[in-house]
Amino acid sequence: MTGLLIGFFAPWAVFAGIFALHLVLPARRVAGYVRDGKRGKRLRYRLNGPLVFIVTLGAWFAAGWSGVMPWDWLWQHRWPGAAGAMTLGLLVSAAVVLTAPGAGGNLLRDLYLGRRVNPQPFGGRADAKMFLYLAGAVLLELNLLSFAAHHVLTHPDAPSPGVALHVALFTWFVCDYLVFERVHLYTYDLFAERLGFKLVWGCLAWYPYFYAVGLWSVADLPDPHAPAWLLVASATLFFAGWTLSRGANLQKFHFKRDPERAFLALRPRALGDGERRLLVSGFWGLSRHVNYLGEILMAVGLALALGRPGMLGPWLYPLYYLALLVPRERDDDRRCAAKYGPLWEQYRAAVPWRIVPRVY
Ligand code: NDP
Repeated sequence: MTGLLIGFFAPWAVFAGIFALHLVLPARRVAGYVRDGKRGKRLRYRLNGPLVFIVTLGAWFAAGWSGVMPWDWLWQHRWPGAAGAMTLGLLVSAAVVLTAPGAGGNLLRDLYLGRRVNPQPFGGRADAKMFLYLAGAVLLELNLLSFAAHHVLTHPDAPSPGVALHVALFTWFVCDYLVFERVHLYTYDLFAERLGFKLVWGCLAWYPYFYAVGLWSVADLPDPHAPAWLLVASATLFFAGWTLSRGANLQKFHFKRDPERAFLALRPRALGDGERRLLVSGFWGLSRHVNYLGEILMAVGLALALGRPGMLGPWLYPLYYLALLVPRERDDDRRCAAKYGPLWEQYRAAVPWRIVPRVY
């Protein structure tokens, strides 16, 4: 019983630690893309994701090496841990929504999608959304390391190279997010979403536990002896996806900050209506959301790296991306059509593909 309780509250303690680190460690201060609703000034952010990540991982390694905590402690407590994270996610979502004034709309809708747009507590020292993404990313990494440690401890003589590859690629994914944390300030979640169950529970529970579903499914199993070509193909697919996703996001980030600046030595081409401009070259000329294709390819690469293409568990992760990103593209398309009007029509005509060039 005590073990269950400790496991249940472990993610609460990890999140509290990450929050404390986020508040006290040095951070760069940057202006974001979102504007303050009252004064119209760009919101400012303190970003220190990479530092928080390094210190937390350092603490995890120290605990493992010193024997204070078994390397696979989070694996051993994964079920109560996931339950604890889900409960915390529910409580925080309810608290964040119910303490904000409602506009008299549907309460369930408010609980799911939220009421507050961009809360920045502690006098702006933390941004709620950026902290939630940081917390989810760091706990995801700890889970992946712990699940992989369990695999190695269970099969010390013949661990699966695919497990190592999966963790290495996922670590790249997490570090990439943290290194480019600032670019995330220009994404949909930050400027279009509110803080409700979807975002809060998504970051505190879904992100750190569900994203590890592939490893969760195979960590107990022996090496499947996947052929080397499958591992090479997985890594190639992953990095092809990463190039599309990171390339598109960076290109848009630089364009929003300086529309004339060349990206990867290419000058941007844009459609304009005298007031607003839309990129129509580079990644944004391939399809209107080639970054989503990139995310899906990365997810497929991660699933295949585990070397069990016939098993359902690892595929749940790419399937989830399909379910998330296909409707999200439709939402964003509607939002952009309303925002840009005829300019968006021109962009649709110039770049007819939604996600997959020449296919969809
Ligand atoms: P985008 O980065 O594609 O942002 C869409 C917005 O960009 C539009 O609303 C519009 O906003 C602007 N825009 C669209 N087309 C153009 C254009 N041609 N030129 C200039 N601006 C344009 O989508 P998201 O914010 O949804 O995704 C950001 C990243 O996060 C993606 O790589 C996505 O795959 C990733 N992601 C990752 C998830 C994960 O769990 N790993 C989950 C969801 C997303 P405006 O005009 O207001 O600037």
